[in-house]
Amino acid sequence: MSPELEKKLYDDFPALYSNHTLPMTETSMCYGFRCGDGWYDLINRLSFDIAKIIATDERLDPKLYTASCVKEKFGTLRFYMNQSTDEIRKEIEKATLESAKTCELCGGEGEMQTDGWMSTICGPCELERNTQREEERRRLARRDSGLMDVD
Ligand SMILES: [Zn+2]
Repeated sequence: MSPELEKKLYDDFPALYSNHTLPMTETSMCYGFRCGDGWYDLINRLSFDIAKIIATDERLDPKLYTASCVKEKFGTLRFYMNQSTDEIRKEIEKATLESAKTCELCGGEGEMQTDGWMSTICGPCELERNTQREEERRRLARRDSGLMDVD
């Protein structure tokens, strides 16, 4: 995710993401949000719901209920907490299901693609990705045949 959007999430939910400044020996949050910008809204909403659950239940210590890892895996969102509740897990599950139909690149309606690796993207983004791959393939082919200088 772009640094600007990551910063927004850190600023908007300082307690939930308080771990992001810790070293990698203590948390995976130091790597930030390892997914595309298209899931920003989804993660923003999920963060809001989780923060609300923690804030309205005085039994939950905000220092313990923090995010430990947020990433994309096999085309869907993975969101891990250091400590969780059934209510929080339910919200995470909802967001995970939503991520399977949300383009990770633009946030539009997406579909799970399984060409080579699994990812959830929309038609136009897939077309663009394939075009870029094709251009890259041609560029490498041109370079290999000596028609283009290598810098
Ligand atoms: Zn898209």
